[in-house]
Amino acid sequence: MAFEGLTERLQSAFSKLRRKGKITDSDVRDMMREVRLALLEADVNFTVVKDFVNTVRKRALGSEVLDSLTPTQQVLKIVNEELTNVMGDEAVPLNKAPHIPTIIMMVGLQGAGKTTTAGKLALKLKNEEHARPLMIAGDIYRPAAVDQLVTLGKQIDVPVFEMGTDHDPVDIVKEGLNQAAIQKNDYVIIDTAGRLQIDEKLMNELVRIKELAHPNEILLVVDAMTGQNATEVAKGFNDQLDITGVVLTKLDGDTRGGAALSIRAVTGKPIKFTGQGEKLDQLDVFYPDRMANRILGMGDMLTLIEKAQKDYDAEQANKMAEKMRENSFDFNDFLDQMSQIQNMGPIDDLMKMIPGMANNPQLANMNIGEKDIDHLKAIVYSMTPTERENPDILNPSRRRRIAAGSGRTVQEVNRMIKQFNMSKDMMSKMSKGNFNGMDSMFGK
Ligand code: GDP
Repeated sequence: MAFEGLTERLQSAFSKLRRKGKITDSDVRDMMREVRLALLEADVNFTVVKDFVNTVRKRALGSEVLDSLTPTQQVLKIVNEELTNVMGDEAVPLNKAPHIPTIIMMVGLQGAGKTTTAGKLALKLKNEEHARPLMIAGDIYRPAAVDQLVTLGKQIDVPVFEMGTDHDPVDIVKEGLNQAAIQKNDYVIIDTAGRLQIDEKLMNELVRIKELAHPNEILLVVDAMTGQNATEVAKGFNDQLDITGVVLTKLDGDTRGGAALSIRAVTGKPIKFTGQGEKLDQLDVFYPDRMANRILGMGDMLTLIEKAQKDYDAEQANKMAEKMRENSFDFNDFLDQMSQIQNMGPIDDLMKMIPGMANNPQLANMNIGEKDIDHLKAIVYSMTPTERENPDILNPSRRRRIAAGSGRTVQEVNRMIKQFNMSKDMMSKMSKGNFNGMDSMFGK
């Protein structure tokens, strides 16, 4: 999971402070030494770490912090603010052209996720702005890159301009832009060639495309998993192309966090989006403050709520709330909920957005994955329609039949029915405004 090690190390540094009522200069210095090591270990750029630690230390050693009634909270607040600051304070939106089309040029090394991100971005613009983008297939070197973009375009119903692999990419872009003018597309997204490393020939080609297309946005796509190297790559591309923004991909993987924390400080250019998976709807706006919260293990409720609003059908949610109030929630509703949750993304990622859950040991034991949800669903599918609507009739012989039908054990079926009854009970209480018992949800 992204940032796991960093979050753990930072939390351990703070928890030492937390145990003390009053803190001194030397407590702060000790803590900052640990923070420094944690950041270096997470592959954050050395200069960035140095500046960060100096700033935090200076602010935290002030008397208004140390003499305050809640010094540890004050220090944590400073760390949070400075982490946010390093990543750029505010989310930076896409640049827009005063007249259509807005031209976006995607650049980056091979395998960073350029082509995928071009598709994700087209889909986002289409969904959120009802835009009519055109994508141009300008990567003629990587085998099958043109086909990949064409296939992506079909999947999301966005046109792709391509001229195969036998033309100069600059000519392809020129023709593509002509086509966009004729079709009055409001966005043009140009996919360009990558290499395994930055080289002169690649850069010359990209500079020529830039000179021709005058893009409003040059988005550099970098792979977060490559850590320090991602920062170096960003610097290299920025020096030659004066990029306007960065997309950090593969933040769903177990990146240590270095790239997210270094790129802005090293290049001066904002991270605008993050890739959170291979699916085409897994592109998120980058919010430095929310990312800082996540890194500190403080959760990210805002993103969680937005995800829920986006993926959760409002009518469905109202129906569900009504059922909870009436205590008539049954296994059909349970199935619906499981499917809705599965659509929202990996469960442990979602759990980590809940404040306090990032490093909750209970979470480590919960281990809920896609497979577990599929097992739960299999059990429900093996119930008859009457059983699903009347969970109370599930006697031992029915449970045995369900276990055999779903290929799960009777114990598993029992456990799942018990959990179902507990959640039902809790939901009914919560819908009546009684939040006692929430703790038991987390096994406390
Ligand atoms: P390109 O060479 O830069 O065009 O890279 P591609 O778009 O072909 O992506 C390379 C690989 O990375 C593909 O397998 C993508 O599915 C995968 N990928 C891209 N973005 C993400 C992401 O945000 N998360 C994950 N897990 N995989 C990604």
